[in-house]
Amino acid sequence: MQTLPLRFVATAQRAARALLVLASLLVASALGRAQQIAFTWDDVPAHSAMPPGETRVAIAQKLIAAMKDAGLPPVYGFVNGVAVEREPASERVFKIWRDAGLFLGNHAWSHMNLNTATLADWEADVLKNEPLLEKAAAGTDWHWLRYPFLAEGDTPEKRLAARKFLADHNYKIAAVTMSFGDYMWNEPYARCSAKNDTAAIAQLETSYLDAAAADADFRRAMARALFGHDIPYVLLMHVGAFDARMLPRLLALYKSKGFHFVTLQEGEKDPFYKGSMNPALDLPPDTLESAMHAKGLPLPSHPRPNIDVNSLCR
Ligand SMILES: [Zn+2]
Repeated sequence: MQTLPLRFVATAQRAARALLVLASLLVASALGRAQQIAFTWDDVPAHSAMPPGETRVAIAQKLIAAMKDAGLPPVYGFVNGVAVEREPASERVFKIWRDAGLFLGNHAWSHMNLNTATLADWEADVLKNEPLLEKAAAGTDWHWLRYPFLAEGDTPEKRLAARKFLADHNYKIAAVTMSFGDYMWNEPYARCSAKNDTAAIAQLETSYLDAAAADADFRRAMARALFGHDIPYVLLMHVGAFDARMLPRLLALYKSKGFHFVTLQEGEKDPFYKGSMNPALDLPPDTLESAMHAKGLPLPSHPRPNIDVNSLCR
């Protein structure tokens, strides 16, 4: 009679352990499903060509309305001040953006490419944007830099010097860990709209969403290969006319794939973004591709859209 309760206890302990394992698996899979994405917008206030009748202000209003409808937390938009010289009416975008509670960051005054410019010229281009940001984004943390062309410097020395400059000026770097080349659709859309080619516009719509879906799968496959789980992804987008047209459908697509929307600040709290949060550190770029290369892992398959959007409506 002494052994029976003991056996019972042992069985109960095993059952409890099994339950714990099951519970932790459920938590892990729930976390796995709750992958996060931070939308970021480049080339504020003016990106690429527009269809007849479109304006920069109307594009910003469409973007803001779609993000509000989908319940996005406040996003960053990265500014090129030169756009206001070229298109003075676009300056109102800053006010609309800020009135919606969204943030602004630095994308260098003239979108200068650090890989082709001198370091001194590039640094001056970053600083030239600051009075505009000081005014348009007063009282907010606009010290976030998105490298134009994602160019971080063509030599290790130049890259390191630029990082030191950013650290000295209290910048954090807006990394990019998700990007499907959304910018490529804006010029064809402007052309196809001018020609009223609805069949071609339908092709643009389908291929845009297909590219976004395939890219999300590609990034997630890399994160899983590297870490066994998702990281919060930082998505690179542009304030283009076609992006504004597609945003409600794009947000629905990410939602249907299980993504939750977070801020850039929250997403980059993940240890993966250590080098972006602190440019004073001498670390390689915070991209999934470079992390894969560093570990000698092969890139997962990445299906591309099977149409050449650049050939449309010529
Ligand atoms: Zn840009």
